[in-house]
Amino acid sequence: MEHKTPQMDPSALFRIGYGLYVVTCNDGTKDNGLIVNTVCQLTSTPNRVAVTINKSNYSHDVIKADGRMNVNCLSEEAPFAVFEAFGFRSGRDVNKFADCTPLRAANGLVILPRYINAYLSLEVEQYVDLDTHGMFICKLTEAAVVSDAETMTYSFYQKNVKPRPQPEKKKGYVCKICGYVYEGDPLPEDFVCPLCKHGAQDFEPLQ
Ligand code: FE
Repeated sequence: MEHKTPQMDPSALFRIGYGLYVVTCNDGTKDNGLIVNTVCQLTSTPNRVAVTINKSNYSHDVIKADGRMNVNCLSEEAPFAVFEAFGFRSGRDVNKFADCTPLRAANGLVILPRYINAYLSLEVEQYVDLDTHGMFICKLTEAAVVSDAETMTYSFYQKNVKPRPQPEKKKGYVCKICGYVYEGDPLPEDFVCPLCKHGAQDFEPLQ
């Protein structure tokens, strides 16, 4: 039998499709939420859902202790601000719901009032230690569809939501006569356009 040398291109893993979710929980005194892409339905009779969370996230410890969470399924309408609010800071340091009156599911945990198309309430049945992460295997205690908007996928987020780095704006002046661009600020008063020979009065600042 012929043996091939295995290829190992880690970018192949980027081809796995993911959705993006805000997982909410409560530590007994305050609500918390974080963004994950690791929500996966495992079985349907009964419905079981796995959620994997990095152990460095505060929510990991909260859910391990409390055994409950809500999965808020983000829709394509979710703006970047949602990812900033839940993704780029820790519930150890801030109350992510300090400025709003959140809605709650039957289990008492937060559901987002906007930008989701469904939510799931989960109760942890099994915990699997994955070294850097913990996997929570859960049963479904509530499930609701709240809008018909498309689910936010990781690739949609990368293409349409995540801000692209803006090219640095150049300061300068453009000749209104011929379009020649002088790079620099200020434009010298005695400047003469090298192309059309008009003076500084025929230049305007670059937009
Ligand atoms: Fe000119």
